[in-house]
This record gives sequence, structure tokens and C-alpha cells, in this order.
Amino acid sequence: MEHSIPPSLLAKGKANDTRILKSINVLAALKVIRSTSGLSRADIARTTGLTPATVSSVVSILVSAGIVRETGYGESSGGRPPLLLEFNPDAFYIAGVDLGVSKVITVVTNLEGEVVSRARLEIDAHAGPEAIISRLLDATHAAFADAGDAAAKIAGIGLSVPGLIDAERGLSVFAPNIPGWASIHIAQRFRDEFGLPCWVENDARAMAIGEAMFGAGRGYQNILCVNVGRGIGAGIIVNGEIYRGKQSGAGELGHMTVDPNGPMCPCGNHGCLEVMAAGPSIAAAAIRAVSSGASTSIRELTGGRIEEITAEVVSEAADQGDTLAQGLIRESGRYLGIGIANAVNLLSPEIVVIGGGVARAGDILFDEVRKTVQRRAFTTMVNLPPIVPSARGEDASSIGAAALVFEEMLTVGRIADLGRQLRPTKQL
Ligand SMILES: [Zn+2]
Repeated sequence: MEHSIPPSLLAKGKANDTRILKSINVLAALKVIRSTSGLSRADIARTTGLTPATVSSVVSILVSAGIVRETGYGESSGGRPPLLLEFNPDAFYIAGVDLGVSKVITVVTNLEGEVVSRARLEIDAHAGPEAIISRLLDATHAAFADAGDAAAKIAGIGLSVPGLIDAERGLSVFAPNIPGWASIHIAQRFRDEFGLPCWVENDARAMAIGEAMFGAGRGYQNILCVNVGRGIGAGIIVNGEIYRGKQSGAGELGHMTVDPNGPMCPCGNHGCLEVMAAGPSIAAAAIRAVSSGASTSIRELTGGRIEEITAEVVSEAADQGDTLAQGLIRESGRYLGIGIANAVNLLSPEIVVIGGGVARAGDILFDEVRKTVQRRAFTTMVNLPPIVPSARGEDASSIGAAALVFEEMLTVGRIADLGRQLRPTKQL
């Protein structure tokens, strides 16, 4: 496993160099402690390449915050027997809130991403921003109320929203498919309501952070995470860090052109991956087929009401062996495979994780995606990254938003604050 310091971080401005370096060291040490229980400080120094003095300093920060605990003495190799360390995933808890087009989800998890409590509420995307914000707050109150003792130890809230965000200002800039949702100071609304630190991230990037920390991407440094639902977005992890690009604009995989003569996308371009492969395009193709009298069980699944045909319905019919539905899912998988092959050529990730509603179509979709990537990516079979589904289903983005909190809390100043905040009686 690699624990080298990403060079991009070292270049981040001189005044903060020491602090940033220290944070990176904390992360490096914590990564090793999380992956193997019962290591000593000397073991960590050996694995990370950090000096024993640095390890001793960062471990004491982690022990003060309760994230790492000493479990007893190991065997002596001559001198004093070493104190062994382990990760304490219940030192504090993290909350993640995900705004979707038809539902909101809040989870409270421990530091291993294990869900302690969860609330899911349906929303009407046309209800207006205020009504939607109040559903988000309601779901969060409900999840906190169900969290029991953990509720008092929640360190912060991560917010996953679709579309463009401004992480610095805690702003949800614009969400496609949610009318009227623009320039919402969502982090501030949550800070005012819950009195906790809050951060905002785009849903695909939140999913990538969650997969890297708790999910299928754990142990990898370079991850492409693709969220396929009503839209298509990507979260990109490069050298262990999320890549946001200029003004957080990176990852718009859905607006990559895959057919120059294709139908028009809401963005104004023609033949974007999103209009060829996302949920609405699957539903639209099914509606066209049913209307023209094709033989398929999709019609029966909605009781003949064609306006109720969605990608989920098509996926259900495909599962039951409907040939037409299977063809539509494969078609989506083929375009998705083209988009992913292009992204693989550009990024060379170690693993590709696909989440979102359409990803739940399962093997029919994944087989086609893998086949297409294999055929089209400029890479040998040896280099071809595994393409796997997210293990967290519809919670992937909310768990990712919670993971964002953990990542943000691991900066040195905040860990110390956390130790004070959650353990008022204990000396730091
Ligand atoms: Zn587009």
C-alpha cells in the first residue's frame, strides 16, 4: 500500500505548510492504523516512512481525540515493550445528507461507515426550494433522534447535492431537475439548525469519497466513481485525493459527447452520454417501444399506464427476462461503456465504481459496460481496471457525505477541537 505525500498538497501555500504536512501525516498514520490493528508506533514509522518523532506526535493527536486507542503491550524486542494501537471507529459519529430528485436520505454512521440510523423521505422536486430544505432538515432530525447515544457525539454534517457546488462558501449553486434550486446557502441552513460544522459536496464526488474511505475503493489511490441515475456524474480520486478541478467543475462525465448526431441534451449539446444512457433515456426508449406496440412485459408492470414507465420498471422487466427491456438496459450499458472507456484512457484509474439508480440494473448492465470498456479502452487486459457496483445502493452518496466530514475533521486543528468538544473532562 502507498502512503506517499501527494505533491499537490505540498505546493499549497507556504504559511500553512507545517499544518498541512502535519494533517497529511495524521492521515498517513491513521490509514495504517485503520488497515491493521495491533501495530506499535515503530511499526507505523516503518510502514509510512515518517520519523519516529513525527509518528509519536501524530499518534498522540489521534489518541487525544479518541480515534486511536492503546490496547496494551506487545512483545519486547530487547528494550521497553511497545504499546500497541487500534482504530476506534466509535470515537465519534458523522452524518451525511443526500438530496435526490425524488427523495432525501440522512444517515448517521460511525467512523467505519457503519450506519447507526437512517431516515428517508420522499420529495416533490417541484415543491420549491424552501419545502425541499425543510424535508432535508426533517430527515436529519429524524435520523438524529434515532441515533440514540451516538447523537451527542456527531462531529459534523456532510451535504451531498446534485449539480454545481461552491465548497468554500457552502453553496449549492445549481441543481438540474430541481426547478428553482439556485444559489442555496445549504451549509449555513444546517449550521443554524444543528449547530454543527457542515460541508457541501456534489453527489458524485461525495459518492467517490465514501467509496474510497468505506467502500469498494478502499485501499486504492486512483478511483473513478460514476453515478448513474437521472443524470450521470463522476467523482475522481487522484493519488488518494478528490479532484475538483477549476471551480469544482470536474467530473461532468454525463456531458461528454458520445454521439455527435445524437438527441439534444438539456445542456444544449447533442449526443451527451446523459441523454444516451441515464434513467430518463431508458424510460423514454421504453415508452416509444410500448407506444409502437412492441411485445414486452413493461406495459403490464405499470398496468398499461405508459406515463408511469421509469428506468426502474424497465430494470424490473429485464430481471424477469423481458427481451426488449434487456436490450434497453444493454443499450444504456454500451453508451456508458463508451464514456467510461474514454475516462479510463484519460485517467487510468485502478478501479471503476458505478453507483446510482441505473447501476442497480445489475449484471445485464455491468456485463455490457465491461465488454465495451474492454473493447474500446486503450489498455491491455492486465491494465484494465475492475468495474464494480457500489456496495451501498441508494445510500452511497449520503454515506459519502458523512465520509467527507471525517476527512475534513482529520485536519490537525479540527481534531484537537474535536477532542475538546466531545471529551470535555479529558486533558489533551
Ligand atoms: Zn449535456
